[in-house]
Amino acid sequence: MNLADHLLPKDIFDQVAQSAHELNLETYVIGGFVRDILLKRPSKDIDFVCLGSGIALAKASAKKLGTKRVTTYKNFGTAMIKHEYHELEFVGARKESYRKESRKPTVEDGTLEDDQNRRDFTINALAISLQSENYGELVDPFDGVQDLKRKMIRTPLEPAITFSDDPLRMMRAIRFASQLNFDIDPNTFDAIQQEAQRIKIVSKERIIVELNKIILSKTPSYGFKLLFQCGLLQLIFPEMTDLYGVETREGRSHKDNFYHTLQVLDNISESTDDLYLRWAAILHDIAKPPTKRFNKKVGWTFHGHEDRGARMTPGIFKRLKLPLNDRMKYVQKLVRLHLRPIALVKKEITDSAIRRLLFEAGDDVDDLMTLCKADITTKNPNKVKRYLQNFDIVAQKLKDIEEKDQVRNFQPPVTGEEIMEIFNLEPSRIVGDIKNEIREAILEGHISNDKKEALNLMYRIAKEKGLEV
Ligand code: ATP
Repeated sequence: MNLADHLLPKDIFDQVAQSAHELNLETYVIGGFVRDILLKRPSKDIDFVCLGSGIALAKASAKKLGTKRVTTYKNFGTAMIKHEYHELEFVGARKESYRKESRKPTVEDGTLEDDQNRRDFTINALAISLQSENYGELVDPFDGVQDLKRKMIRTPLEPAITFSDDPLRMMRAIRFASQLNFDIDPNTFDAIQQEAQRIKIVSKERIIVELNKIILSKTPSYGFKLLFQCGLLQLIFPEMTDLYGVETREGRSHKDNFYHTLQVLDNISESTDDLYLRWAAILHDIAKPPTKRFNKKVGWTFHGHEDRGARMTPGIFKRLKLPLNDRMKYVQKLVRLHLRPIALVKKEITDSAIRRLLFEAGDDVDDLMTLCKADITTKNPNKVKRYLQNFDIVAQKLKDIEEKDQVRNFQPPVTGEEIMEIFNLEPSRIVGDIKNEIREAILEGHISNDKKEALNLMYRIAKEKGLEV
């Protein structure tokens, strides 16, 4: 197969091929870029492998492309240049051998074949020649093209050795399966099951990169089911596998919260590509196992799982090496509030309940509604229809009340400084108490969110507390 017409942008490949020719270096395009040509997926990263010094080839190519900066990684013998939208990586062909305790191999110079052997999957081991005599010719020693057609993830060599050498490849196998909607070859999958424990030598930072890519794929439940089946999920994220299973007592069962969570994740993935909103879906019921109780009258309950889940969120983020910043707080907030809109649709909706939700959710109220809609996983179409209609009513109410009262980004109409100045107070608890009472009165609807009304109330409260102007 000749893929010369697909080597675009043309100037990049022309210049690299020319540099390779001048340096007398046999050079190939290899890996993901080649795979993505055949899958017709856009790809920004281009990997070049040459029989010799990748760094020398990078420097010569950069010169021809008019790019000044070459980033070299001397320890790895690789170099990278950026050219417009593309990142070009250059590496000398190499042979790798591994030791048991580390995923960092010892490396020596090798042939193209050695280099293809060290690649993780057949579909990632494809190479295209840049030599003038066979420019564009595909080199496919492991039937990678066939695997692309069969939609199959398969290791080029013995899978158990491939995974034991570098256990990150197990996560990558499932990540590619999930991203590309491919199957994993049964022998390859068996080897993942067998080697799953080896994931312990991989850094958390590497694991989360792959897990996040699974989460961002079109139907993330597929990747999670594979992770679950092979035992990796249990090792990297046990809180999630704790959700699995149905218990029955006195003829009463609860739903399987693992599959429910995956359904919510797939649902939300239809309306958002935001990684952290998807994380909120994953974590929304995470505290159901530790809050599960059985009560003869009402059956199974999970009281307080939303608060407990919010409290578990920072620990999970920390362990998985997710960021402990405002994104974590955002997820935590959505987990804590995820039952509130549902509670609102079930009973008579009061304005004050709506105001409180707006106040607590702030700018994230729309995302909260998206999460709640995704949380509807009943199979009964009539119920789905009714719930969604009720949500529309709540959404409309949220809009109306916000227009009227503006509590979404609540700013106290009377500030602490003003209170201190008017009553000649030092910073003290009483200032906070007055502010809280004013806020409560606004949320309850006793007064409007209005400066004059708030000041009037402030004077009344102050009088009750015996304060003088
Ligand atoms: P994506 O850009 O979607 O992550 P990719 O295949 O380009 O996909 P990279 O991580 O950039 O992924 O890797 C580039 C190439 O390097 C791969 O196609 C593969 O040939 C090889 N590779 C990357 N990681 C490994 C690994 N852990 N073991 C073996 N080969 C690997």
